[in-house]
Amino acid sequence: QAGDDDVPVADVLDLPTDLASMPRHPNIPAPAALFDPRPNSKGFTFGDRPALSKLARAMRNAPEAPTPKAFTKADVTAAMSRAAAAFPAWRDTAPAIRAAALRRAADLLERDRAALMSTLAREAGKTIDDGIAEVREAVDFLRYYADEAETLCASRTLPGPTGESNVWRARGRGVFVTVAPWNFPLAIFLGQTAAALAAGNAVVAKPAPQTPRIAARAVALLHEAGVPQDALILAPGGTEVGQALTADSHLAGVAFTGSTATAKAIARALAERDGAILPLIAETGGINAMIVDATALPEQVTGDVVLSAFRSAGQRCSASRILYVQEDVADRMLDMIAGAAATMRLGDPMDPATDIGPIIDDEALDRLKAHVAEHRPRFQAKAPEGRFMPPTIIELGRNEKLTKEVFGPVLHVKRWRANEIDRVLEEIAATGYGLTFGLHSRIDATIAHVTARVGAGNVYVNRNQIGAIVGSQPFGGRGMSGTGPKAGGPLYLQRFVEEVVVSTDT
Ligand code: GLU
Repeated sequence: QAGDDDVPVADVLDLPTDLASMPRHPNIPAPAALFDPRPNSKGFTFGDRPALSKLARAMRNAPEAPTPKAFTKADVTAAMSRAAAAFPAWRDTAPAIRAAALRRAADLLERDRAALMSTLAREAGKTIDDGIAEVREAVDFLRYYADEAETLCASRTLPGPTGESNVWRARGRGVFVTVAPWNFPLAIFLGQTAAALAAGNAVVAKPAPQTPRIAARAVALLHEAGVPQDALILAPGGTEVGQALTADSHLAGVAFTGSTATAKAIARALAERDGAILPLIAETGGINAMIVDATALPEQVTGDVVLSAFRSAGQRCSASRILYVQEDVADRMLDMIAGAAATMRLGDPMDPATDIGPIIDDEALDRLKAHVAEHRPRFQAKAPEGRFMPPTIIELGRNEKLTKEVFGPVLHVKRWRANEIDRVLEEIAATGYGLTFGLHSRIDATIAHVTARVGAGNVYVNRNQIGAIVGSQPFGGRGMSGTGPKAGGPLYLQRFVEEVVVSTDT
């Protein structure tokens, strides 16, 4: 790349970091506008090609992070003991000091944004807009949990009979193990870890085996920000490392994001241990539906469906998997969605013109292709050579059901007739999942009826159904989609603490 060398990383530091937190554009007509077209407070426009090219060059110039070595079982044992030894001092550190370290880490993330985005692109195939949003979310988690922990961990004197004082406080439980997914290898990895740390736990953090480098960068920044080396230890590895971590005698709790099957396996492992009953916070998958009725605005539906189903190559657990569209408008709506999807660019995630990057690995791509091969797609976009899956639309027959989470840019569609909305809601509930749900309708009574009945944790009306914002849209599901509490919400930290009441006769 000619001229790459004359763009220092520091030059891009004044780029906005608040794009993911900006209110969504109400009517995104086409994927060309996937970048939010409005300027932010610094006058930067997301669609501003020169600025994005500059950021892309800085990402390319950023040195690659080394790959941390996978743990052995002996490494797991050693790490858990070191974390257990570091725990009491971290638990007894004033909440405000722990919070200050997390806030400093947030500043460091912003400082190193181009380098982090570079690793996100190289290791996880994250496009530039996904990278900006992911760093933003990670920063938001750090600041949000810092604030929440200061409130939660402040001791309170509770009223009681005369002659007695009752002091309540919440404090860390011990060594928390966090297990993160590859699809948000920075934001979710750091979110879980920051919550556990803020609440006063020591943490041994296991990234997904596909994405250890971004996790190593994140841990290094938390250490630089003041979290003691042994209060946070990175434990790279796969299933065996995970199993050794959940079997270790020092374990005090697990925060997990990944598949429902793995969450259940962890729950079983925890139940079979001797000793204490340990908490598990699990955020898992979904078969997320969107209902569109005949009154919805077609252009808006098109933009929202394309974003929800195909952005991030559909590799979000929030993504739209099945669209229930009212029969009267179905053909027109589906043609518009296919037309918009056909213009999406697949390719190098570090190219600012790219809308969709690669699939995480060959196995995942093979699974997607095998699923599509079982059907005759109504539409499939073109994909370049390489590990790419093109946006695909599969129409299901009236009696066909989608029973598994298809983790990629594959949207299933079913039609419904005017009086069938309750039947559609029953079909959605019958999946057992309840993560995200979308509705497009201009009828207030329909919106009230559907939102009162649908069982998803995050319900989105007349907008896309991805990209929950920390503190505004606490994220997480019910049933097979997770245990709660919601990430980025006011109850999340409560699962990471134990409560103590000291009652003293005065
Ligand atoms: N929080 C993300 C969103 O709202 C999804 C998280 C996930 O895929 O695990 O899109």
